[in-house]
Amino acid sequence: MSAESVSLGERPAPPPAPPSPAAAGRRLYEFELPIGVRDADGHLHRTGTLRKMTGRDEAILADPQNQRNGGRLVTELLASCVTRLGDLPQVTAAVVAEMYSADRNYLLLKLRAATFGPTLEATYKCPSCGHAQEVEEDLDELPVRRLAEDESAGEIRIRLEDGYVDAQGQVHDALVMRLPTGADESAVAPQMRKNASLGKNALLARCTKSLGDVPAHRLSALGPKLLADLTMTDRRLIDKALNSAAPGVDLIRALECQACGHEFKASLDLSRFLALD
Ligand SMILES: [Zn+2]
Repeated sequence: MSAESVSLGERPAPPPAPPSPAAAGRRLYEFELPIGVRDADGHLHRTGTLRKMTGRDEAILADPQNQRNGGRLVTELLASCVTRLGDLPQVTAAVVAEMYSADRNYLLLKLRAATFGPTLEATYKCPSCGHAQEVEEDLDELPVRRLAEDESAGEIRIRLEDGYVDAQGQVHDALVMRLPTGADESAVAPQMRKNASLGKNALLARCTKSLGDVPAHRLSALGPKLLADLTMTDRRLIDKALNSAAPGVDLIRALECQACGHEFKASLDLSRFLALD
């Protein structure tokens, strides 16, 4: 056992956990989720530990079925590598699938940093002159926004500027959404594979809880089509609420082109960050 003998006041010391053969002698990395997982009793589980990826996890990455579905791949990988989450008895695939994507992406970054180190070579292309520049990113230094006490990831209220106009000409502009989860990622993976914009509409539709007075059955029937009909102004408002203003790791980088001096913002490209080559 490592130096874990911290006294917790009056509480009796917990019984030592049985050493798992797979984890024996391996260091555990601590984390604190940006949002966290609520159990059936409403308790929030936010802190935990993960271990480095092993050869077995490499097989999860290489599995063709997982490669066809990024959501499923992340679920399998994290269920394998997260050794503890709060007081939950076990971190199963079902637990990881119900996690918010913000928490899953945060854990992926932690897992990458634990296994291969926090340095990531990223390439950014200047939108003005096309110059591609290599930047060394430190994954441990990326800002993380954690959910505040009075915030709810399950209910995000967005006031649309233009709204959705129904057949009777009524405008609906009060949108209530929730943040996407791993289960959403897996569900929209087929659409994502066909077309990123199609996949995004499918994801937004799944995360829409209500829109003005549009009846629930109408909302689910229209789904992605309704979201595709929203103006770019409104879609940007939704984007902001679900991404830049939402909890999670901030992946937006402020860059300056070395060739032409143009200043631009780009999202850190994580598409291949777990690649082993
Ligand atoms: Zn440039």
